[in-house]
Amino acid sequence: MTRLSHDHAVGPVGHLTEVAGAVVEVIESCHTMWHFDHEKSAFCRVAKAGPAPDLTDEGLWHPFERLEVDEETGSFAVVLDPAGMRRLRSWQHVDPCRLCGAGRDASTGELELTSPRRTS
Ligand SMILES: [Zn+2]
Repeated sequence: MTRLSHDHAVGPVGHLTEVAGAVVEVIESCHTMWHFDHEKSAFCRVAKAGPAPDLTDEGLWHPFERLEVDEETGSFAVVLDPAGMRRLRSWQHVDPCRLCGAGRDASTGELELTSPRRTS
């Protein structure tokens, strides 16, 4: 039996999801989920810590010119104007993450949970 083990992680850049019928690319950085609607050239930043906003609210979306991804370093830039002068730069969060250390901490925590120590 062969199962696809990466059903929603397509490629090194982001994964695709659907918002109100539109296909949206999602790139995860350490603290933010970046949503890109390439058809409308609009993007939306969602903080991972806060409550999930209603992405069908068009007020949350901002226009962008293009998305530049450096697959080697995992950095990406959202270019906001045609000349490329205004851009937002971030880095993809991977697991384990060398930027925020998330994956390592999580796996350590899991190990401790599966081998509980009696303290009394
Ligand atoms: Zn991270």
